[in-house]
Amino acid sequence: MPARQVAVAEAARPFFVGIDLGGTNTKLGVVDDQGRVVAQHKMPSQIEQGPEAGARRMGEAVRQLLQDLGISAAEVGRVGLGTPGTMDIPAGMLIRPHNLPGWENFPIRDRVSHYCGYPVTFANDAAAAAYGEYWVGSGHRWQSMLLLTLGTGIGGGIVIGQLNIQGAHSHGAECGHIIIDYNETARTCPCGQKGHLEGYASATAVVQRLEEALAQGAETSLRRRVEQGEKLSPLLLAQEAEKGDPFALNMIQETARYLGIGITSLLHTIDPEGVVLGGAMNFGGAESPLGRQFLQWVREEIQRRAFPVVAQNLNLEFASLGGDAGFIGAAGLARIDYRQSRAAL
Ligand SMILES: [Zn+2]
Repeated sequence: MPARQVAVAEAARPFFVGIDLGGTNTKLGVVDDQGRVVAQHKMPSQIEQGPEAGARRMGEAVRQLLQDLGISAAEVGRVGLGTPGTMDIPAGMLIRPHNLPGWENFPIRDRVSHYCGYPVTFANDAAAAAYGEYWVGSGHRWQSMLLLTLGTGIGGGIVIGQLNIQGAHSHGAECGHIIIDYNETARTCPCGQKGHLEGYASATAVVQRLEEALAQGAETSLRRRVEQGEKLSPLLLAQEAEKGDPFALNMIQETARYLGIGITSLLHTIDPEGVVLGGAMNFGGAESPLGRQFLQWVREEIQRRAFPVVAQNLNLEFASLGGDAGFIGAAGLARIDYRQSRAAL
């Protein structure tokens, strides 16, 4: 189900504001107590201006959005902030976020809180997206869920009950770095280690594998498009696969198999009710035959490798909130903290 919308007048109070900070753009939105979107706003992150200026812009955007809606401070429960890692969640610190150069070792939670005037819940962006899908997206019927986001990297989020796995060192649910090849010849992950899933099945890795195959003389209609000056991408790959290019189809199937192998290990670790694939690389998603075929290939690999009872009962779906999952989930995580703080009173 796509994100539901609601007007201020009909919304369930209190409101929560979610912020999804990305390397290029920042999305924020006001969400009501049932996870419905009241309003949202997108702005360039302007990372180059540094973290203090960024925290101020986010804080001011929160206040502006609420003011435009006529929502008073008393009606706001809390603010949630999802950012790329690495981070120290209990300390509210960005540590070394690769997508935010110059933002190292910055106390982002408290600075955003200072500028917006509300307490802030801090989370990994993939964890926030996972909670969004769990709360009001593809996983809304399940009690436990795993999300993998397939983009520049592979993000991961695990939600069990109301518990969002973040780990002792804020590196829990880093599902992109699960090992799928222990050999010395394994591909190198952007994190520097060998054999991690992200080094095989992220959008970046798919493009690398395509470049290698073309350099080795692979026969494919992709070659002509590259020679015409087009850039290799999962989208270009999907277009040629849809036209029936066997190499392109095989490449997508191979990617699905890598994912199936990684997901199998995660299923055997947590046995979740469902697995959701999000991120920009979805080969057309649930609306397209190729997207559904991709999902089927992932499923077949899982069925080959997982305990039958786990594989047969597995719900495997594409994410449904698209780019809204991050801010909705950040708002949802803020809602959990808000409720816990109220219960403690
Ligand atoms: Zn890695």
